[in-house]
Amino acid sequence: MIPRTLFSPEHETFRDSVRRFMQDEVVPHDERWQEQGFADREVWRKAGANGFLCPSMPPEYGGAGADRLYSVVLMEEQARANNSTLGFGLHSEIVAPYLLAYGTEALKKKYLPKMAAGEMIAAIAMSEPGAGSDLQGVKTTAQKKGRHYRVNGSKTFITNGWNCDLVIVVAKTDPAKGAKGTSLLVVDTAMKGFTKGRRLKKMGLKGQDTAELFFDNVEVPAENLLGQEGNGFVYLMQELPWERLQIAISAAAKAEAALEWTRAYVTERKAFGRTVASFQNTRFKLAELATEVQIARVFVDRCIELLLNKTLDAATASMAKYWVSDLECKVMDECVQLHGGYGYMLEFPIARAYVDARVQRIYGGTNEIMKEVISRSLGLGGEK
Ligand SMILES: Cc1cc2nc3c(=O)[nH]c(=O)nc-3n(C[C@H](O)[C@H](O)[C@H](O)COP(=O)(O)OP(=O)(O)OC[C@H]3O[C@@H](n4cnc5c(N)ncnc54)[C@H](O)[C@@H]3O)c2cc1C
Repeated sequence: MIPRTLFSPEHETFRDSVRRFMQDEVVPHDERWQEQGFADREVWRKAGANGFLCPSMPPEYGGAGADRLYSVVLMEEQARANNSTLGFGLHSEIVAPYLLAYGTEALKKKYLPKMAAGEMIAAIAMSEPGAGSDLQGVKTTAQKKGRHYRVNGSKTFITNGWNCDLVIVVAKTDPAKGAKGTSLLVVDTAMKGFTKGRRLKKMGLKGQDTAELFFDNVEVPAENLLGQEGNGFVYLMQELPWERLQIAISAAAKAEAALEWTRAYVTERKAFGRTVASFQNTRFKLAELATEVQIARVFVDRCIELLLNKTLDAATASMAKYWVSDLECKVMDECVQLHGGYGYMLEFPIARAYVDARVQRIYGGTNEIMKEVISRSLGLGGEK
């Protein structure tokens, strides 16, 4: 196997402590969280106390000022623990960076330290019942009234939505201007008129509190606007390569874990008086998958290097998101097959990983949208 060269001994020490945290504080509770449909807030506080939330935020805002490889380690170890319940990545590496980059000093001071401590949980609400891939079709409005914006509309499919204390809302401040009339606002659940809807029942990610959110004349102070009014789309575009790479990072780690569970299983399991591993079909199948997962690993690691050098472009990140999440689904499907009937039983990790994998091709921009982005970078234009 090609050795990984990204991580220092300090990153590996950090990895050991994240792995222990997953084993001691997450895995033992996860079945219960999946049954109740959300994680206990206690685990967020424990993660915060261990420095596992918002590690890349500067120390003055409660973080460790760590490089993003620490965030990569967190994502990989959560994937290896087969955990899809905790929306730590979205909280720490999607929401917090928007606040840091575009929030006022007062907003950063108010929210980031509490997010890093796990005392506040954050979400981002772009999607609506009528607008997902086509975010220009967002109908939620934020009308300026004196020193406030009045926010009206509804959002759906929001990760951490039921547990969240604050949410970055994508809203139209000038609906006539389309993308150029879109802004980002920080809405606090304490604000009057903000309500949470149902926790959505999903085929996988069963412990993740994906929810609907409703805004009925919510008065949001003007200082909760992120950056400039009308620039929301520009800000969303700037963060997309990192957000998409995060999906590829977890997909590669999950695929590696699935191969390992399957290798162990087929070595033990017997049929026709021999191990399942001894059938040529099993060995060739695992050889093929191991090759593809190795290709994914090298590609993802190179993308991480580009990210660290601030040169990861949108098309390359889209390639990683689409190709590695497709591969993850293929690996899970083949590995379920090699487990036979046990692969269909949720007490085996592969069954859960199989259902959890499917959404990776959908959220963060569907894989079809990724191909649109890639094809545009090839100078092929695109649909109007
Ligand atoms: C579990 C889960 C968690 C999520 N978390 C969040 C969250 O935290 N915050 C948030 O804002 N959103 C979240 N989402 C929403 C997610 O980002 C959207 O579901 C996704 O972007 C797709 O939008 P849609 O569901 O409206 O599908 P649609 O846009 O209606 O797409 C339907 C189909 O049409 C295809 N399609 C659309 N446009 C094109 C095109 N131009 N070319 C080719 N094909 C096209 C799509 O690829 C798809 O196959 C989450 C979704 C899920 C399922």
